[in-house]
Amino acid sequence: MVARVITELVIANRILAHEDVVDAYGHVSMRHPEHPDRFFLSISKAPQQVGKKDILQFDLEGNPLSKEKRPLYLERFIHGAIYEARPDVMAVVHAHAEATLPFGITDAPLRPVIHSGAFIGAEVPVWDIAAKFGERTNLLVTNMAQGRDLAATLGKNAVALMRGHGFAAAARSLIDVVRLSVYLPRNARVQMAAQQLGAVKPLSRGEIEARTSGYKPQSPETQRAWRYWAERAGCASLLRELD
Ligand SMILES: [Zn+2]
Repeated sequence: MVARVITELVIANRILAHEDVVDAYGHVSMRHPEHPDRFFLSISKAPQQVGKKDILQFDLEGNPLSKEKRPLYLERFIHGAIYEARPDVMAVVHAHAEATLPFGITDAPLRPVIHSGAFIGAEVPVWDIAAKFGERTNLLVTNMAQGRDLAATLGKNAVALMRGHGFAAAARSLIDVVRLSVYLPRNARVQMAAQQLGAVKPLSRGEIEARTSGYKPQSPETQRAWRYWAERAGCASLLRELD
């Protein structure tokens, strides 16, 4: 079970890197399926370079469960705080994807505007670290207090934008959160382009509901996307280990 989770998480890291959701920075985690008070996350490495030996278990306060001399992600508190606040969430992504950033620094709301963007949900709140922690932070989420404040802004939503920084995405499975994170910047780019042309019509609540309620992580359609992204990212042999 643990070996399978670790392999899937390595694949998720490589997919997010290959799809330009993360670069040298950004990370993806998964809650432990048998111990909900733990999650799996890499040590501090670029996601493209993450391997199985880099994945550690953490408690929900961001402490590694085993002694570790290698450096850890400074922003691992994002993950712990979201798992703490949201028992339904099984996987979390934090990234700095450029296309999402304009929507975090203006009053133009990011909305789902394409069918594959439905999973970002009807509302995408913006978290401003300065609102509670003042004007002298380095913008990074470096402790649990900041992580919990971000999780409170996320609320029951799937994504929160982080002002001048990036986004945090939460979902009920690893495939869900990868899919959501791949389509979030694409949706943002389409919305930006459309706004040059005129008024934008986002998806209706009914359309969002119809897309998300019919979605199944293990369906052939979803698995097709996962395998496509994984093979493009050079993970064909890792996929075979899971078959
Ligand atoms: Zn960050």
